[in-house]
This record gives sequence, structure tokens and C-alpha cells, in this order.
Amino acid sequence: MTVAVPLSLIEAFDELARTPDARLIQGGTDLMVEINFNHVKPVDVIALRRIKELRTWQVNSNNTITIGSGVPYQEMEVGQLKELLPALAEAARTVGSPQIRAAGTLGGNLGTCSPAGDGLPVLFALDAIVHLQSLKSSRDLSIHEFMLGVKRNARHTNEIITGVTVPVLDGWQGYAKVGVRNAMVISVASACLAVDKKNNSVRIALGAVGPTIIRCRDAESWLVQQLDLTSATSIDTTIAQEFGRRVALESKPIDDHRSTAEYRRHAVGVLAQRLITRAYTS
Ligand SMILES: Cc1cc2nc3c(=O)[nH]c(=O)nc-3n(C[C@H](O)[C@H](O)[C@H](O)COP(=O)(O)OP(=O)(O)OC[C@H]3O[C@@H](n4cnc5c(N)ncnc54)[C@H](O)[C@@H]3O)c2cc1C
Repeated sequence: MTVAVPLSLIEAFDELARTPDARLIQGGTDLMVEINFNHVKPVDVIALRRIKELRTWQVNSNNTITIGSGVPYQEMEVGQLKELLPALAEAARTVGSPQIRAAGTLGGNLGTCSPAGDGLPVLFALDAIVHLQSLKSSRDLSIHEFMLGVKRNARHTNEIITGVTVPVLDGWQGYAKVGVRNAMVISVASACLAVDKKNNSVRIALGAVGPTIIRCRDAESWLVQQLDLTSATSIDTTIAQEFGRRVALESKPIDDHRSTAEYRRHAVGVLAQRLITRAYTS
């Protein structure tokens, strides 16, 4: 295996043009597992870890944040990123162990595109834009267009995911997941809820209960009719329960080695109910 270590995006694109079948690697916490288990045997690998442009993030003037694909989870758990994107901080904190969070990135979560990826429900709830760049062009795709299915995405082989842009919302947001134990665990079911007071909307996205992340649009619009999102300071238990029931109805879980469809459907209902209750507990 040949590993190229470019120091800039331009160098990485040159390398990708020279070896079009090369696999990209960022933190390596997904790819190295695949290589170790002989699931993939890349001949050429391009390591993106030393590219500084991918490891930065910034708050933009239009109240959005752009996070480079190489920013590790550990940076999202603290400081201004945590303050402005609390749901992302909560999701980041649930990923693997401190060692995994020091290396793993949103770029890798997007590259793998597992429905159980903990960063993805947050990106779906926030309607993130994914930035893709190749030697000659760049494009911005809505996260809803980017994720196509289980471990399938719309990235072209000559493109590098350079980052994502998400809005800073005015309103409570949070992330919760269920696994087979309390830590170091891949989600059996997960949910991200974000209240957007400015647009009088609530967004809820589910992980690990469908081939892609699922936005529960029906439950979202039902809730907006029950609750004044901008002024409410509490929520009736019956409304929170009904919200959970409606969210569960929109999930499309399957049975697999981690759980049953029935348990997953139940779990996302409970997660949704808990999240909306946390959002409106004064
Ligand atoms: C012990 C352990 C525990 C884990 N726990 C969790 C967990 O709790 N939650 C969770 O979501 N994940 C978990 N993971 C999986 C993994 O940590 C995450 O998916 C992480 O986000 C991957 O990021 P990475 O930078 O390490 O990706 P890499 O392994 O470097 O890459 C993953 C894929 O994305 C592609 N890729 C990487 N960067 C780019 C880019 N810039 N442009 C295009 N393609 C790119 C690669 O080619 C590869 O296909 C765990 C992994 C391990 C080993």
C-alpha cells in the first residue's frame, strides 16, 4: 500500500488525479477497521490529516458555521462550537472513546455514510450543506441529497468533502442515542431535535432506523400546531407522548444483529418524547 501525505488541498487533488482509485483517509477510525478486517485492500491511500485547510472551522457573517471535514470530534465538544451547536457537541461526546474522538471527524462520518453515524442526524436536523471539491470544480449539496442509502453518498470519486455549513439556530437543541451499553457503542437508535424559533419550526432527525437518516416532517408539522415554540416554557406530557408516537411511525427500522425493528421503533419514540420534554422544561 502506498500512502501519500499531501500538505494542501491542491497537492491532494494532484495526487487524486494521479491515482484516481486511491482511498482517502482522515482520522482512519473507519477505514483502518475495514483494512484490518480485509474488507478493503486499497493500493493507494491519500492521507488528509496534515491538510490544515480541512482542520479549521469558522463562524460566518450570515449566522452559519462552516466546519472543515478534518476537524476532530473532540473540538466540537468544547468552547464556541459547543455553545453554538449544542446538539453537535452532544453527538460528538457519544462517539467512541476519547482516542476515537481525537481522530474521528465529520468528514469521515459523511464519507462512510452509515445510518448509525452519530454526526449525521445532527446534520439532517440542521439542514446542513456539504461542500465537495475537485481539482476543477466545487459544489454544495444539501445533506438530504448527499446521503443516498446505507453507506452510499453522492460524492464523485475525484472529489474531497471539504466541510459542512450549518445554521446557528435560536432555540433548544439536543441529541440522544440508545446502544447496547452506555459508552463506546454504535447507535441502535438515535435522534436529534432542534427548535428554530425564528422560523417557528422544530426539526427532528432519526439515526439507525432506516437506510438513510430520517426527518420526521409529519411529526414536526403536527407539533408546531400544538405548541407556540417561541413562548412555551413547558409541554404537556400527553403532547410529548403523542409527538413520540408520531415520530416512531415515521421510522423505518429493520431487524439486524444489533437490535429488532420493534425495539428500535419504540426507542426512537421514547427518545423524541424525552428530547422535546428537555426542550420545554423551564
Ligand atoms: C472503536 C470505535 C468506536 C466508534 N464509535 C463510533 C460512534 O460511537 N459513533 C459513530 O458515529 N462512529 C463511531 N465509530 C466510527 C468512526 O469513528 C466515525 O465514523 C468517524 O466519524 C470516522 O471519521 P474518520 O475521520 O476516522 O474517517 P476515516 O476512517 O478516515 O474515513 C472514513 C471514510 O470516509 C472517507 N473520507 C474521509 N475523509 C474524507 C473526505 N474529506 N472526503 C471524502 N471522503 C472522506 C474515507 O475514504 C472512508 O471511506 C467508531 C469507530 C471505532 C473504531
